[in-house]
Amino acid sequence: MTGQHRIVVLGAGYAGLAAAGRLASKARGARITVVDARTDFVERVRLHQQAAGQQIPAWSLRELLDSKKIHFVCARATEIDTVGKRVSLDTATVLDYDTLVYALGSTADRTSVPGLAEHAYSVSTPEEASRFGAPSGTVLVVGAGATGIEMAAELAESLHDSRVCLLSPEEPGAWLSPRARKHIRRVLERLGVEIRSDAKVLEVTAAGVRLADGTLIEAAATVWTAGFAVPDLARRSGLSVDGTGRVLVDAALRSISHPDVYAAGDSAVIAGPGGRDLRMACATALPTGKYAADAIVARLRGAEPGKLRFRYVVQCLSLGRRDGLIQVLHADDSPARTVLTGRPAAWVKEQVVRGAGWAARP
Ligand SMILES: Cc1cc2nc3c(=O)[nH]c(=O)nc-3n(C[C@H](O)[C@H](O)[C@H](O)COP(=O)(O)OP(=O)(O)OC[C@H]3O[C@@H](n4cnc5c(N)ncnc54)[C@H](O)[C@@H]3O)c2cc1C
Repeated sequence: MTGQHRIVVLGAGYAGLAAAGRLASKARGARITVVDARTDFVERVRLHQQAAGQQIPAWSLRELLDSKKIHFVCARATEIDTVGKRVSLDTATVLDYDTLVYALGSTADRTSVPGLAEHAYSVSTPEEASRFGAPSGTVLVVGAGATGIEMAAELAESLHDSRVCLLSPEEPGAWLSPRARKHIRRVLERLGVEIRSDAKVLEVTAAGVRLADGTLIEAAATVWTAGFAVPDLARRSGLSVDGTGRVLVDAALRSISHPDVYAAGDSAVIAGPGGRDLRMACATALPTGKYAADAIVARLRGAEPGKLRFRYVVQCLSLGRRDGLIQVLHADDSPARTVLTGRPAAWVKEQVVRGAGWAARP
């Protein structure tokens, strides 16, 4: 390995931090620099808790990274010059790299229906989650995927002057097992969440939302959880991306267009078990961040990387602070019959979230 191979990791979320930590312990002699627009690592999987008014933990990235002799630059990456191999930052500085790890994660969807950007709240970033006050009146949560279910339950448990309504064209947790779906519905109803599983939202307005059938539902606030977007830096920089802007990578998480660039986490399209792409999740960001680091180290040593070994095990949902759902999964992410519910599930979920935070920190 050369003495000063420069590895720049863009993004200090679950994937970027996991990659940086692994590189620090294995890529001896390399100079590792992590770039993130934020000063702190915030457990993103707790942002629904933050939106519901709870304090969530945060760690200084500088302290975390200094302790492992990883250089930290707090700045927003604005451009990647893939020919000159340098990243421009919004601080008017430029970072040269020999190898780049692209782990910029995902953001709120702001474009899929009119009015989203102007009128909807999101829990996709710490800034957006903290912008959501505690309105009295009706709060609409749009999207009954994992984030929408967690958000609706958390709000209903915490906001006593609000009516929470969960809107989706499908029943909550439609991808889960029948027992899981039944439990989610029972808990949401117990918490007072009104569930509408026939509601496709076509527009968000200052007064509420407009559904596909023309119905207007009035609300004090609308929270959009029906999809995420990814930063457009990869696309703008000429990396091969899919239609949404996620980096296309080979089996070793190397960009198919730029061999000096690796990508992991939400901002990459990664082949998973059963021929499906990995789902955007902390559960996939951590292992893919670590694996990208291993692949880089292997190549620096002149070896070919081993295979990414990943299988799904469980999906964990919080249903407020006192209930939860642990869905056991087959390797390909399809649900098995076994579920854990109630307080034991809430406890397991909390341990999983804490464990993920520890696993990410270098
Ligand atoms: C409310 C909520 C609950 C969730 N619950 C779960 C769950 O229970 N289980 C689960 O598996 N997943 C869950 N997820 C999904 C999970 O949080 C994401 O899949 C995961 O955070 C992806 O990790 P990542 O490292 O790819 O990206 P991120 O965690 O998004 O990190 C990306 C980092 O890049 C930085 N960044 C972005 N653009 C720039 C730029 N231009 N310059 C510099 N820095 C930049 C950001 O500041 C951020 O720190 C949840 C998500 C939300 C929002």
